[in-house]
Amino acid sequence: MPENKKNSHKILFASSEAYPLIKTGGLGDVSGSLPAALKGLQQDVRLVLPAYREILEQKGKVKTIAQISLPLGRARVLERLLPGTRLKVWLVDCPSCFDRPGNPYQGSNGLPWPDNAERFALFCQAISYLALNQAGLDWQPDLVHCNDWQTGLAPALLSLHKTRPATLFTIHNLAYQGLFPETTFFALDLPWSFWSPHALEFYGKLSFMKGGLVFADRINTVSPTYAEEIQTPEFGCGLDGLLRHRRNKLSGILNGVDKNWNPARDPALAKNYSLRDINGKQDNKKALQQELGLPNSGKVALLAFIGRLVEQKGIDLLLEILPEIVKLPAQVAFLGSGEKHYEQGLQQLAQRYPEQIAVQVGFDEALAHRIEAGADIFLMPSRFEPCGLNQMYSLHYGTPPIVHRVGGLADTVVDSTPATLQNGTATGVVFDRADSSVLLEAVKRATLLYGQQNGYWKPLQQQGMRQDFSWKRSAERYLELYEQTLSEKAPPSPT
Ligand code: ADP
Repeated sequence: MPENKKNSHKILFASSEAYPLIKTGGLGDVSGSLPAALKGLQQDVRLVLPAYREILEQKGKVKTIAQISLPLGRARVLERLLPGTRLKVWLVDCPSCFDRPGNPYQGSNGLPWPDNAERFALFCQAISYLALNQAGLDWQPDLVHCNDWQTGLAPALLSLHKTRPATLFTIHNLAYQGLFPETTFFALDLPWSFWSPHALEFYGKLSFMKGGLVFADRINTVSPTYAEEIQTPEFGCGLDGLLRHRRNKLSGILNGVDKNWNPARDPALAKNYSLRDINGKQDNKKALQQELGLPNSGKVALLAFIGRLVEQKGIDLLLEILPEIVKLPAQVAFLGSGEKHYEQGLQQLAQRYPEQIAVQVGFDEALAHRIEAGADIFLMPSRFEPCGLNQMYSLHYGTPPIVHRVGGLADTVVDSTPATLQNGTATGVVFDRADSSVLLEAVKRATLLYGQQNGYWKPLQQQGMRQDFSWKRSAERYLELYEQTLSEKAPPSPT
């Protein structure tokens, strides 16, 4: 056997979204990149997703490889490749659960689908079947890697089997736990033993997330700092006690940045540019100002925000200080969707300051790329941030970010202090408290650095562009974690 094949494992990677087939946020980015990067490290990986209508409508060869009869219903397993890769994707096709228009998690009214518990419980049953090689596919994974609450019941279900693969559960955001009423627990016909605070019960409710946190052999999250933070009451969302209890099994690995986030090759940009030739960024700024209806000005700093418009992202802090930011002077571009009152608040300010504030409500992948390239400074004042991708994209695009010192933001951005500017390690501006006046100070600090053009700005941009956030690097860490999980899992006792 060749040396590099020695540690090849069969990995079943389970997620509720994966770019480019379906994406609502960072989980989609990770699940589109990490399995492919693991395959690049000679691992035998299958990605399993629900067969949403949006996926079924896409181009690509799809074949039915199995029919499975699960406790909650029948499903077909379809196989296709993840576009742009050789990675096999298995789609759990249960039309009553997944063949419907729109978002994977909510209807057009913005409310969660009323049958989310049933939908994702069925998905978890399918993951468990595939993991136990019960679908007749002659493929038995060594390890199942589950991601976020939608896959949380799978480690719990697998724990009922003696000869099961090892399980890893990754927390991408502890705030979304998949909580449902007690009646749902009984409707799902789960084993009685699971109705306990030591299993799936969370203060009288059914918690899908706890299925992963209690039953997986190992748990990880998407940055080392967030792995520590979630063990505290401030960030633990009521689960910090459990996470402290399992701290010996808990670690953090930073996400990577996908290859398509590269300013030198990005087809969405007005002009490509790179670390060595950063001047093309000016053309992107001009094009972006034009696109967003902002006056062309090379000198005024253009700040940008991209993301979900929810309290987590600190959008309320930004709304509070926008009238101050525009006085600096500065322009600010927003791309996002989320809670209606934030959307309306931003749109009102854009009407009040049409020369300085531009707001695009919606989800627009190509525009996100053009904003990363055209903006001078990126805004990411999240109250908490498990990893965060946009600050890493902006570092790659020479757009120094302003970030709150939490989670992955703390792990990826080096604050500009006299010392770090001097020794060339600074990559952005970091502030310490989720407070609008503290954020405003950080914005002033960043625009001052930008405006003085005192020789520090370009090195700051370039130092950010030099950071290695390749998925290969993160995938290597995951592989180490898989090895550790496999070695710790006790072999099944002989029957
Ligand atoms: P989260 O997963 O909490 O939403 P992340 O920063 O980890 O935040 O990832 C968000 C991902 O979704 C990034 O790839 C970001 O560019 C993208 N994104 C968020 N909102 C939008 C939007 N309105 N349009 C385009 N891309 C968006």
